[in-house]
Amino acid sequence: MNCEWREKADLYVDNELEPAARQEVARHLLTCAECAAVVMDQHEFKKTVRVAGRRFSAPPELYAAVRKQVHPRESVSPWWKRGLANGVFASDGRSCLLSLLPAEGK
Ligand SMILES: [Zn+2]
Repeated sequence: MNCEWREKADLYVDNELEPAARQEVARHLLTCAECAAVVMDQHEFKKTVRVAGRRFSAPPELYAAVRKQVHPRESVSPWWKRGLANGVFASDGRSCLLSLLPAEGK
């Protein structure tokens, strides 16, 4: 695999080329068996991964770990924020409950 177009063939498979460059690579693939084979192999590999992705799903722990790696700043709400939110909600609920009770002295 020494064709100088190899890297462009990889970009072609990943659809990361501008239209003009993509056409240029497509023309090259018609004349270079080496690059054509690489492109076919990579298309097959991508198809296999896509099909497997439909059949299997990641466990929630793995999904969360990967998501944390991809979005390191995104975090689950800390316990004190959730507690505060629940406290506010409870407070609102108590207020609503109190408003349903008869007023004192009537
Ligand atoms: Zn080539």
